[in-house]
Amino acid sequence: MVFMLDALLKEIDPVVSTALEKALNNREISKSEALELIKVQNKEFLALILAADQVRRSAVGDFVSFVINRNINFTNVCINDCQFCAFKKNIGDPTAYLLQIDKIVEKTKEAWALGATEVCIQGGLHPELDIFGYLEITQAIKKAVPRIHIHGFSPMEIAYGASKAELKIEEALKMLKEAGLGSIPGTAAEIFNDRIRKIICPKKIDTRTWIEIIKTAHRLGLPTTATILYGHIETLEDRVNHIGILREIQKTTRGFTEFIPLTFMHKNTPLFNKGLVTKASTGAEDLKLYAAARLMLNGYIDNIQVSWVKLGPGFAQVVLNAGANDIGGTLMEEHISKAAGAMFGDYLPPNKIKNLIYQLDRIPAQRTTTYQILQFFPKAN
Ligand code: SF4
Repeated sequence: MVFMLDALLKEIDPVVSTALEKALNNREISKSEALELIKVQNKEFLALILAADQVRRSAVGDFVSFVINRNINFTNVCINDCQFCAFKKNIGDPTAYLLQIDKIVEKTKEAWALGATEVCIQGGLHPELDIFGYLEITQAIKKAVPRIHIHGFSPMEIAYGASKAELKIEEALKMLKEAGLGSIPGTAAEIFNDRIRKIICPKKIDTRTWIEIIKTAHRLGLPTTATILYGHIETLEDRVNHIGILREIQKTTRGFTEFIPLTFMHKNTPLFNKGLVTKASTGAEDLKLYAAARLMLNGYIDNIQVSWVKLGPGFAQVVLNAGANDIGGTLMEEHISKAAGAMFGDYLPPNKIKNLIYQLDRIPAQRTTTYQILQFFPKAN
């Protein structure tokens, strides 16, 4: 592979080869270089994928990590109306739900019994909940299963819960952390272009507020993930700018644990129903995004996670050869992507994850939420 890449670098477009060589030598590539990379075709495309794979190998090695976790979407009721969302319901809808705390605790206990080290707690913005509601959930989980890691409450939920309770973001985060919140999903980032946010998620926090909440969380010692929602009405420049903003945050806080590209699932969403988005991103686009992100974030965010729920386990394997090194979690249940037409189930048991990784001739590694490796699983001969 290295030989093939060396040969390709000599014959492809010099702008692309210069950017790839910079990344391969652990030098930072600029946003304009990344934009060239995310547009590539033909031999340049192949070189991009090979370079991303090589940079991944030297950054994090040849194992593929995963976490045993359970998603608990505690309510689908939401006062927001994000146009990419097929999950939210209004109060009164026959399929609207709000899980009682006992139920959330029961699901956590079940997950712990199945070997989960994490519960991921996210939901809609329910009119009856505020930050104290999130606090009660956190406290109840920690009381029942003290050692489980709670990864919960997106920056949007934090902003909503804090403002309803008339608390500052910092106070709200401190309170949740003291109650046992371990980390925060970096969702609600969507795409950092406020003109586009006004179309796709008009009531959501703006870019500046998202950054402020994330930086506050990092300062308080709460790590977060970093995400992008791509494949809707944004441009390639928007994708690169978004990753550039995440890179700048990471330079100052070092609080991101991983970057998770989230492909827009269009079915059943208002954006699709209004004809604003008519198709999913292509596999080539997905690969280019992952590969360019690996090169842009090299030295800053080591872990790039592929979402098997959105892309499917088979394509996730391909992406693991294009810059990604982590396959996320077992999930056990998932409602948000499924509502938008994802077809790949909501539970990938550890054994299936391990087999996917063995098929790539790589070594599975179970990790914690914050990427401490708990166990390697070398293939038995
Ligand atoms: S994405 Fe989240 S905040 Fe937006 S409508 Fe859906 S549940 Fe509500």
